[in-house]
Amino acid sequence: MAKSLFAALSGHGGKVVPGVSRARPVTGDVDLPSQVDVVVIGGGYVGVCAALSLVSRGVRVALCEKGVIAGEASGRSLGWIDSQFLDPAKMELIGRSKELWAGMNAAVDAETGYRRCGVVSLLPDDGARAFAEDWLDKVRGRRGVDARIVSAAEAAALTPGGTASFVGGLYQPSDACAEPVLAAPAIAEGARRKGAAILQNCAVRGVETSGGAISGVVTERGRIGCQAVVLAGGYWSSLFARSLGIDLPQFQANASMMSIRPTGDDLPETSAWGNGYVWRRQLDGSYTIGAINGVSPVTPDSVRHLFRLLPAIRAMWNEVDPVFNLNTFWNDLMRPTRWRMDEVTPFERNRILMPETRQGYLDQARRRLENDFPGFSGAQALESWAGVLVTTLDNMPVLSAVPSLPGLFLGTGFYYGLTMGPAAGEALADLVMGQTPQFDLHDYRFQRFSDGSKLVFRT
Ligand SMILES: Cc1cc2nc3c(=O)[nH]c(=O)nc-3n(C[C@H](O)[C@H](O)[C@H](O)COP(=O)(O)OP(=O)(O)OC[C@H]3O[C@@H](n4cnc5c(N)ncnc54)[C@H](O)[C@@H]3O)c2cc1C
Repeated sequence: MAKSLFAALSGHGGKVVPGVSRARPVTGDVDLPSQVDVVVIGGGYVGVCAALSLVSRGVRVALCEKGVIAGEASGRSLGWIDSQFLDPAKMELIGRSKELWAGMNAAVDAETGYRRCGVVSLLPDDGARAFAEDWLDKVRGRRGVDARIVSAAEAAALTPGGTASFVGGLYQPSDACAEPVLAAPAIAEGARRKGAAILQNCAVRGVETSGGAISGVVTERGRIGCQAVVLAGGYWSSLFARSLGIDLPQFQANASMMSIRPTGDDLPETSAWGNGYVWRRQLDGSYTIGAINGVSPVTPDSVRHLFRLLPAIRAMWNEVDPVFNLNTFWNDLMRPTRWRMDEVTPFERNRILMPETRQGYLDQARRRLENDFPGFSGAQALESWAGVLVTTLDNMPVLSAVPSLPGLFLGTGFYYGLTMGPAAGEALADLVMGQTPQFDLHDYRFQRFSDGSKLVFRT
C-alpha cells in the first residue's frame, strides 16, 4: 500500500515530454482548399479511415492534422486487431472492422502491415480458463468471433519455446495485427490518391456556423468552408468540444511499449498475452513487447468527473495505476479552454503529445517474458516508447452527430482505435451522408452522457 502510494506520488509515467513521431512520414498537401464537403480533424486511425471512406464515396474531404499523421496514439500502439475479453456490445463494430482490415492493403494500394497472425491468451490456471469460457459463451456467434479454448498442448504449439505451464489458451485465429508506424500513413496516402487533401501542421482552431449549422473551420493556416466536420482528435477531442461549449468527458491512460530483436529463430508468429506481458511479431521479424499495466495521470478533468468515473476506476484498478504528476496537473489546469480564432491555441503548442516511458513496467514485463520464453533472452533492445490511450465514462467510443450543432460529428474515445478504426471511419461517413450504418450505433451515441442513461462500464 505504502509502495503504491509512493509510486502514485512519484508521478512516474505521468509526465509529458517533447513529442517525436514514430510513424513513417507522409507527404501531404501544402495548399488549403477554400471549400470542401467535409473537414476531418485528426490524422489518427479514426480520422484517416473516415477520410478514406468519405472520399471513396465521392465526397470532397480535407483532413487537418495539427502535427503529423499518426504522430500521437496511432503511431504508438502495440498493433493488435483483436477483440479478446471485450464487451459483447463492441463485437459488431470490431467484426466489421476486421472485414475492412483484411481488404485494406488493396483498398489503399499500400502496405499497412496487416497480417492475420491470430492472438492467443495463455491461461495460467483453471480460474482464468473459466473466465475465458464465460466470455466465449457471451460472444459466441457474434460478428468476427471465431475464438475457441485450446488445450495446453495446442497453446504450446502456437507459442513455441515456452517453459512455463499454462492450462490452455483462448485463441482467436481471425485476430490480426498491423504496423502502427505504417498503417495510418498508408491509409492517409490512399485517401490522398483518391482526392482527399491531407494537411499536416494544420491545427483546427474552431468552427464557423451559419444559421446555427457548421459552415466552415478556421485553421492556423486559414479558413476552409464545409458543411460537416468530423472531430477525430483523440486525446484533444474533449478540449476542442469544450471550446465549442460541448461537454465530452474523456480520460487517459499512458502505456509503454518496446521493441526487441531476439537472436533465436524458433519464435512465435502468433501474438500472445501471457503472464504480465504481451508480444507481437513485427513485419521485419523483431518483436513489440509491452506490459499489461499502464498509468493514469490525475488531471483536473478526472477530479471534476470523479464520481462519474468510479465504475471505470473500479473496472481498471488492476491494470491502470493512478499517478499524480504536478507538472502535468498544473499544465492541464492552466490550459485555456476558449480562444480567439487569430490566437495560437493549445493544439499548436503541443504538436505531438507524448508521455514519458515507464521503463520499470517494461523491465518487469521483459523479465517475465524471458522467464516463460527463454528464446527472448539476450534480445537486443531497439526502442522504447509510450503513448496516451483515451476512453470515455463507459469505455465505449463515441460515433455520433451532435444534435446541438448540426454538421458536427464525433469519432472519439477509442481505447482500441487500431482495431476499430476502419469500421468507425465507415460509420462516421454513413452518419455524415445520412446513410444507414452497417450496425446499430445506439450504444455509441453522444447523448448517452447527458440524457439520463445509466452508464455501464464495458470492458
Ligand atoms: C501504447 C499503446 C498501445 C496500444 N495498443 C493497441 C492495440 O494493440 N490495438 C488497438 O486497437 N489499439 C491500441 N491502442 C489504442 C490506439 O492506438 C488508439 O485507440 C488509437 O490510436 C486512437 O486513434 P484516434 O484516431 O482516435 O486518435 P489519435 O491517434 O490520437 O489521433 C488524433 C489526432 O488528432 C490530432 N488533433 C487533435 N486535435 C486537433 C486539432 N484541433 N487540429 C488538428 N489535429 C488535431 C492529433 O494531433 C492526433 O494526431 C494502443 C495505444 C497505445 C498508446
